[in-house]
Amino acid sequence: MTNRLPRIALILLLIALPVSAQKDAPIKEQNIRAELGFLASDAMQGRGSGTGYERIAAEYISSQFRQFGLEPGGDTDSAGNKDYVQQVPATERSKMTWNAIGVLKGSQPGEAIMLSAHLDHLGVNESLTGDKIFNGADDDASGSVAVLELARVLAAGKRPRRTIYFVCFGSEERGGYGSRYFIANSPVPLTEIVADLTFEMLGRPDEKVPAGKLWLTGFERSTLGPELARQGAALVADPHPEQHFFRRSDNYPLALRGVIAHTVSSFGLHADYHRPSDDISKIDFPFMTRSLNSLVKPVQWLANSTFRPAWLPGQAPTR
Ligand SMILES: [Zn+2]
Repeated sequence: MTNRLPRIALILLLIALPVSAQKDAPIKEQNIRAELGFLASDAMQGRGSGTGYERIAAEYISSQFRQFGLEPGGDTDSAGNKDYVQQVPATERSKMTWNAIGVLKGSQPGEAIMLSAHLDHLGVNESLTGDKIFNGADDDASGSVAVLELARVLAAGKRPRRTIYFVCFGSEERGGYGSRYFIANSPVPLTEIVADLTFEMLGRPDEKVPAGKLWLTGFERSTLGPELARQGAALVADPHPEQHFFRRSDNYPLALRGVIAHTVSSFGLHADYHRPSDDISKIDFPFMTRSLNSLVKPVQWLANSTFRPAWLPGQAPTR
């Protein structure tokens, strides 16, 4: 009798552990579903670059940043109030667009990291028959949600050493106007950004990499990816080098300016890319939840460490 009770208790504990470990994972599937469900809903009309729907996406993301307790990193109005939205003025070549910027202030001045994605997509094509709405559930509502969920978790923890910029860009799909304007009018000197992770299309697993893994563009170019993987991130090298994804997202203009900037993805070259069929129904929420949770501790580590990633010899992009 004296022996048996503890043994039963131990067995119960062993049964309960995996279940509670999952339940205690910091990023919750229900939050991913909530945010992605809104951004990629038909009501958002495909978040067309430079449209009112893109603006609503920026306002929604801003509202979430505020709820998480981030500081606003966008425009200041005439009364001196700071906003999360950064309005990008129209130019000859671009319509108005909107970025959303939230800041988690660190304790160490002069050092920052950046987590980014693009909030726009291709909008609506009236000339199509059938489904006309490009919902962009994977491209890039999934990346915007990755930024949101990392913001939620990091803002709830203790103050990091490095300041963290959470940025969702407008008009990536129309030439990267949001990120270009951000770079030209950055709230933080680019030299202070120790690393940028851009999140693009990680809502579905890529069969070319092991189950549960995300990949990093330009993994072999810098010390960032290998170090994050050592810290537990489910990150491997990009299995599609022929696609040149390293140069095809908002990380690239930052990388050209010297920032160690890569894109996290799991895009398996699926047939729904840039089609109205890139819908919520195709998102693998358990995969997305698991893989994003693997990034929480490594990103927390990066935000709190003195580790400075660097380009490997000859690997910094030049044009
Ligand atoms: Zn995209």
